[in-house]
Amino acid sequence: MADADAECNIKVLCRFRPLNKSEIIRGDKFIPIFQGEDTVIFGGKSYVFDQVFPTNTTQEQVYNVSAKEIVKDVLRGYNGTIFAYGQTSSGKTHTMEGSLHDPKGMGIIPRISGDIFEHIFAMDENLEFHIKVSYFEIYMDKIRDLLDVTKTNLSVHEDKYRVPYVKGCTERFVTSSEEVMDVIDEGKANRHVAVTNMNEHSSRSHSIFLINIKQEHVETEQKLCGKLYLVDLAGSEKVSKTGAEGALLDEAKNINKSLSALGNVISALAEGRKSHVPYRDSKMTRILQDSLGGNCRTTMFICCSPSSYNDVETKSTLMFGQRAK
Ligand code: ADP
Ligand code: MG
Repeated sequence: MADADAECNIKVLCRFRPLNKSEIIRGDKFIPIFQGEDTVIFGGKSYVFDQVFPTNTTQEQVYNVSAKEIVKDVLRGYNGTIFAYGQTSSGKTHTMEGSLHDPKGMGIIPRISGDIFEHIFAMDENLEFHIKVSYFEIYMDKIRDLLDVTKTNLSVHEDKYRVPYVKGCTERFVTSSEEVMDVIDEGKANRHVAVTNMNEHSSRSHSIFLINIKQEHVETEQKLCGKLYLVDLAGSEKVSKTGAEGALLDEAKNINKSLSALGNVISALAEGRKSHVPYRDSKMTRILQDSLGGNCRTTMFICCSPSSYNDVETKSTLMFGQRAK
């Protein structure tokens, strides 16, 4: 079991955002009780994770615990995935992206990107780096390129080593962190948003940012590749709360299906299972296949609202996170 644990390397981190203004005005109660570094008591039940971040945790503290080591590993040729799970407005995008251009408010992605280039500049001059990024979303089981709006239904193929990839997806070579931010800004502008009762512009698609790093030694020609998937999942809220009908109901069902497929893969990996991991049950898990489990670094953020108003959703989010432990 210890071996399997070491190999599957899944870290589950739980982050609670503060109460927001309208929750305070409504008089919502603040539910979570934080205990030590790794435990939160919510509604009388206690949940243990690799780490729990209380509401006052800074973006920098979150980065240091969640992603700093992964960056080093990816530069050593490992693959990784970091994703954020939670209901709409629980802090997924704040955690993954934050404010892209303000040093204090930066989330994981801009910090990773800054760190990658910092490491590279400090490394052996005989290493040549090629870094490319892609940005796409999965909406209603369709893969849409966020860097080329004409590509609305890309498919998943396997390369000659049987590694799945999104065929035809735009790849941009980048040579600085600023260039990475430009690519994200461009992609965000294209991102699909639909309106629901719960939040005027809640995210109904999974957005996936891929950083691919290739390095080659100029003399020995030795090559090393690593890639990192950064996934901001669609809101996990149940259909009833959003009051969805028709097309929105189909959307919600589709999201639930893909999130439970992800949950099944993660819990199979956390059990240490090596075969019969149900990667093929959704497009997202197929794409992430070689960057989850096995020899990879996986971090899952469980993003939670502290408000009594959202307590049912928060419990279900915490339970999702527990399945990975
Ligand atoms: P999601 O992506 O899960 O829908 P967001 O990340 O957009 O949620 O967060 C909703 C709102 O709450 C945003 O205005 C965001 O800035 C704020 N927020 C989220 N997490 C935090 C946090 N840890 N500290 C302060 N504000 C936060
Ligand atoms: Mg979001």
